[in-house]
Amino acid sequence: MSSDVERRSRRAGGRPISVSFEFFPPKTPDMEATLWNSITRLAPLAPKFVSVTYGAGGSTRERTHTTVERIVKETRLAPAAHLTCVSATKGEVDEVVRGYWDAGVRHIVALRGDPPGGVGQAYDPHAEGYRTTADLVAGIRRSANFEVSVSAYPEKHPESPSFDTDLDILAAKVDAGATRAITQCFFDNDLYFAFLDKARARGIDVPIVPGILPVSNFKQAKNFSTKTGTYMPDWLAARFEGLDNDPETRKLIAAAVAAEQVFDLVDRGVTEFHFYTLNRADLVYAICHLLGIRPPQENGASGHGNGAAAA
Ligand code: FAD
Repeated sequence: MSSDVERRSRRAGGRPISVSFEFFPPKTPDMEATLWNSITRLAPLAPKFVSVTYGAGGSTRERTHTTVERIVKETRLAPAAHLTCVSATKGEVDEVVRGYWDAGVRHIVALRGDPPGGVGQAYDPHAEGYRTTADLVAGIRRSANFEVSVSAYPEKHPESPSFDTDLDILAAKVDAGATRAITQCFFDNDLYFAFLDKARARGIDVPIVPGILPVSNFKQAKNFSTKTGTYMPDWLAARFEGLDNDPETRKLIAAAVAAEQVFDLVDRGVTEFHFYTLNRADLVYAICHLLGIRPPQENGASGHGNGAAAA
């Protein structure tokens, strides 16, 4: 191990650091090429799993399935398929679930999905659908022995009346069989730890894995954060000030900012990270490198992680 890797490992109390990567299904052949270049570049880092999102209202049902199936067929990565229950009957959702099992998928990220009218509008479950995410989780677990991950919101879901409601919903999802929560992205680590404390006090004991969004386009991230209610600290805006027309420097700053965030999390005991890649490998690859997560040949014979995931 290099001294950098040793230092990180010491910081993590000797526990190995593990990562997972999130992608979205591509719309065009060009986007597909970008996605697959990214998957091929990130695969040797042996992520615990790679997840593929499901478009709003199930709009990418086919494309998500095709992408996940290709990951199963062409790589040794463990895919996790996102699945929402909004605007779908139980029968439709169950069919998708069975299709994943038959395709060799063993992990689903179960979500409710945004209201069809958009974030902020009232959510009405489909009359013949799963009413809540906890119901969906139970349905998936009944269908087959899937690993099920769910969402968590360190800064509260925008629809939620209170943190307590959010924690009740998360607890119900765990009671229904979810074994991991992945958080909405956040930029102030203190908010994540405050949420973690509340969740543990509520008796929620599954891993609550921080979702990390490396920000290279500050304006875009700011818009997204406004919608999701994610706090953007002033210092973050200041780091990107004056760089609107300088994407190269923005990218370097983005790597530095995200590295700073994950190192602080490691220093405070976090050893598992979920990266929102936006289908781009460079930033995430660089941050993983700094975390000591390298392709096997760079880490010596044993490599990192289970070494089973090269594309
Ligand atoms: P839940 O966890 O079930 O609920 C979220 C919140 O809504 C609750 O915490 C609570 O505040 C409120 N709420 C829900 N039910 C009730 C109730 N009965 N009473 C009172 N309040 C209630 N969206 C997609 O379309 N596709 C994706 O692939 C996708 N992937 C995601 C991955 C992650 C890691 C995260 C964090 C989010 C993702 N989303 C995705 C977004 C998600 O669908 C939206 O945030 C949606 O609005 C809520 O879905 P959920 O599963 O998080 O809901």
